[in-house]
Amino acid sequence: MDEPIPLEVRRLPEQRRLRLTWSDGHVGEYDYRYLRGWCPCAFCQGHGALALSFHEPAGEIDLAAVEVVGQYALGFRFSDGHGSGIYRFDLLRRLCPCPRCASGPVG
Ligand SMILES: [Zn+2]
Ligand SMILES: [Zn+2]
Repeated sequence: MDEPIPLEVRRLPEQRRLRLTWSDGHVGEYDYRYLRGWCPCAFCQGHGALALSFHEPAGEIDLAAVEVVGQYALGFRFSDGHGSGIYRFDLLRRLCPCPRCASGPVG
């Protein structure tokens, strides 16, 4: 089965959320602070970190820009100036905070 990919990426400025609509029909809304805290770059996670961990961002976070990286990831630039994280689609899907995903592995 093909990995789901985001078909639509929409910023919801009032909620400070990013809504991803996936190719399998799934929809997830990600708080900007949540995305920032999960930034997978080596600077945020520490070199050699084996597993990603959440790092609480300081202050309010806004999402300044979104770009598609190749065919496999999204890059986010945050209002604190940070923008080196590459969020692979499979990572974004694993991070999906919706109740269905948060309740445990699906299927
Ligand atoms: Zn980072
Ligand atoms: Zn979900």
